[in-house]
Amino acid sequence: MDLFAGVESLKGVGPKRAEILKRAGIKTVRDFFYTLPRDYENYQAAGSIAAMRPGKVVIRGKISDVSTRRARKRNLAITEGVVRDNTSAVKVVWFNQSYRARQFEPEKEYFFSGTYELKNGRWQITTPSATLAADVDPTSSLMPIYVAHGGLSSRDFQKIMAGIRDKFIEIPDLLPSVKPGVRRDALFYAHFPESVKIAAKARDYLAYEELFELILAARLNKRENEKLKAEAVPFAAAKIRDFVGNLPFKLTNAQRRAAWDIFQDMEKPVPMNRLLQGDVGSGKTMVAALATYEAVLEKAQVAILAPTAILAAQHYENIGPLLGKFGVRTALLTGATKHKPELKKQILDGEVDVVIGTHALLTDDTEFKNLALVVIDEQHRFGVEQRQKLMLKSPSGLAPHLLSMTATPIPRSLQLTIFGDLDVSVLNELPAGRQKVSTKILTETEIKDQLYPKMREILEKSPDEKRHGEKAHGQQIYWICKAIEDQADATTSEVTSVKKRAKRLSEVFKDKNIEFLHGKMKPAEKDAVMERFASGEIDILVSTTVVEVGVDVPNATLMVIENAESYGLAQLHQLRGRVGRGVSEAYCYLLTSGDASPSRRLRELEKSCDGFYLAEVDLKLRGPGEIYGALQHGALDLRIASLSDTKLIARAQTDVGEFLQSGENMLKYKELMAGIKKYQQLTTLN
Ligand code: ADP
Ligand code: MG
Repeated sequence: MDLFAGVESLKGVGPKRAEILKRAGIKTVRDFFYTLPRDYENYQAAGSIAAMRPGKVVIRGKISDVSTRRARKRNLAITEGVVRDNTSAVKVVWFNQSYRARQFEPEKEYFFSGTYELKNGRWQITTPSATLAADVDPTSSLMPIYVAHGGLSSRDFQKIMAGIRDKFIEIPDLLPSVKPGVRRDALFYAHFPESVKIAAKARDYLAYEELFELILAARLNKRENEKLKAEAVPFAAAKIRDFVGNLPFKLTNAQRRAAWDIFQDMEKPVPMNRLLQGDVGSGKTMVAALATYEAVLEKAQVAILAPTAILAAQHYENIGPLLGKFGVRTALLTGATKHKPELKKQILDGEVDVVIGTHALLTDDTEFKNLALVVIDEQHRFGVEQRQKLMLKSPSGLAPHLLSMTATPIPRSLQLTIFGDLDVSVLNELPAGRQKVSTKILTETEIKDQLYPKMREILEKSPDEKRHGEKAHGQQIYWICKAIEDQADATTSEVTSVKKRAKRLSEVFKDKNIEFLHGKMKPAEKDAVMERFASGEIDILVSTTVVEVGVDVPNATLMVIENAESYGLAQLHQLRGRVGRGVSEAYCYLLTSGDASPSRRLRELEKSCDGFYLAEVDLKLRGPGEIYGALQHGALDLRIASLSDTKLIARAQTDVGEFLQSGENMLKYKELMAGIKKYQQLTTLN
């Protein structure tokens, strides 16, 4: 059997089905075997409607009165029906599955499996799966449920699987680290389990296999990176000392350590590939400035990539002058930059040493004379392709050194699995005098009594002594909103827009200057608003999350995040990091609209300001895909493994290490090597 043959070679898959499957990413026979059930139903355990208890239930009955209506709110299609057996009847409800209304024949019996619960005062089974009773094999107790793909239902998958049941025996072994036959059996029992226990065991192996592949891919990437050549940049001790001595502050020990790691990497003729992790406000930019200076001393160029124009401009203003004192020529390149062709020519001619910019830096016509270092700030904001584009801008045939920076820590388990034991430096120390941000969850009904008085107090407090704009009268406030404009049906919307909130606050704080900022404004407008905020001219800035990354206004000491429930933990932490950057006490209020008790996310945020702790919590709550940007776009869909399964990761890690010890293995295990290609593509950092 050829595992890499097209799906159409399978019995039961004709050209039309093959087309559908291929569109769903199921291209080969191998892919098909690995299309695992999303769940199993035990129809033998079906009970009577009268005996149901709240929670997961399986019943068997006929369905009638099926109809669909549209909910006014949120554009939801609600399909309802009534299921009867000879003991009783129960309502069933589906959301946005209008095909359900056409699915059933009233005379036939179906199994329904779902959650029996009290909703809006009525008992119902919510979003049950439904299977024609006649289709259920009475001899096998667990029925696999597959994700339907454009016209191919779970039932179709079951049928095709059943048709190739005798083919599983031909599946060869994949990994050297497990007993022969384990893979074949695992795949078989994942599709045809005899019990819950057997299914779980099969899936355990498949998770291990997946982690093995992922880790192997990452380790090979790392090896390949080590084979590339880069310009060796010697450590210029005296000059660096001079530069550090000229900074307006003392470096933290963590900054020193990180810089030292970087200098050591850059001294080697292989490209550095280091991730600098540091909580918001830990001073990553300064570390990048040190690396930059070092490269420029070697007559090389540096590109610093930032995710937004505001942030690029801020870096330019912060480190440009510091570097300028030592003769370094720095330029800003964003979408709004004027005279771009002239600037690009200067970059190509080597008349500019450091280019700080946004995506505008990535265009093909931005070419360098001698690019030796690339710094990517908030690197999780960029996709793999974007990062790769920049890495290819080194004309000399050498690869540039790469320093990626992020405030969203990558948990250790991900570092191992996805990045093959990435080189990481951590800024685990904030500059002296930083404040913990007191954080509090408030409901919207508490705005008037609790929030407004606090805001007034902040606005009247004398400006932060660390650094504040010349126009500041008091301390300043950020207020974050979800939407820019009001939605058309403003009465039902629970989200207050930036514009409306700014208007309301202007009525409350009549003597204060309140302005808004959002992503749809022109770059020049945005910059102007940010500048007025930084100078202290604006007291309250009502904004969308465009202020999320990097913006540094130490005199802003209070942040309000409206609809806090709608953001992820990492994003909330990042937003909160906009305050607490000066020496004054800082506050963050998380506003929730409903009266449901606040989520675990918000409670954790209230408790802790430690980004590393919060990242671990986030990984547990949401899984890694959401946290790690490059993977965010569904690129890395793990079939089955969980990246928080540290035990299994450790095992796979050890076994991959052994596997790699013999170079022959890579020739011998052809299927494995071919199968990991896609992971290699996805997980490369440069
Ligand atoms: P982040 O790590 O979030 O990118 P930044 O690099 O923006 O942090 O630094 C935050 C602020 O701290 C900036 O105003 C920067 O000038 C300042 N800063 C950096 N290093 C130090 C230090 N060692 N001591 C005091 N302030 C520092
Ligand atoms: Mg930063």
